[in-house]
Amino acid sequence: MAGKSVVWIATLCAALTATMANADVQAAPLETSNHLSMDTTNPSGIYTDRLSPRRLKLWKSLTAMVLATDAAGNPLYARLHALWQAVATSGHVVYVELPAWNGIHHKAGEVVVEKVDQKGYSSAVAIRLYPDVIDHATSESSDEEFRPFLGLGKTERYLEVLGHELAHAVMALREPDYARKMLDLASESANYAAFYRMYVESPQYAEEMRQRAERIQILTEILERPACAAEMEVWRELTQKRSGK
Ligand SMILES: [Zn+2]
Repeated sequence: MAGKSVVWIATLCAALTATMANADVQAAPLETSNHLSMDTTNPSGIYTDRLSPRRLKLWKSLTAMVLATDAAGNPLYARLHALWQAVATSGHVVYVELPAWNGIHHKAGEVVVEKVDQKGYSSAVAIRLYPDVIDHATSESSDEEFRPFLGLGKTERYLEVLGHELAHAVMALREPDYARKMLDLASESANYAAFYRMYVESPQYAEEMRQRAERIQILTEILERPACAAEMEVWRELTQKRSGK
């Protein structure tokens, strides 16, 4: 999510997945919702036209792994495949971007709600992965059960982050309340940064900063919980496949 470092999110994911009630988070249905409103101004689907030819080649290699099946025709990575299908068949527009690192942030990926229809459903989102950041991300985690990126190859690391971002996208496309919270977080974060720059030494200012930071933390935890749960499952299936289980 916006403005959070890989380590920060990895630590948060580890904390959330270590303490969450598995059933309720993992049971969140990921199948395509049939009550989403259609945006008729754009045909739905996953769009790759924002990718350079070089990035498109990388994206195609990721897609091939997501859609890979075994001899019986079953997906090699069931959870990742299900997340992909939920997004691809959501009836909405999903842009893919693989930007180069700008030298400032440390985000591994993010989902941005670009368009909301009259009923509050996201009708267009952008999924961004930052390959340069993912390449250099560490497996720092306090959770023995979930060590992000540990044991994964270069492409699989991208897939782990893709799983996390797809989960955000599924929720954003399916739940107006989730999409609204994503927009709230983006706006709270921008306001926080602006307020930070207006620094004044006073108890009122300090209290206002504390309250703003608290609102950001609460929103972040709500939004990250399902994405972290999905990422952990994707990481597990990637590591299990790698070790031949
Ligand atoms: Zn996230």
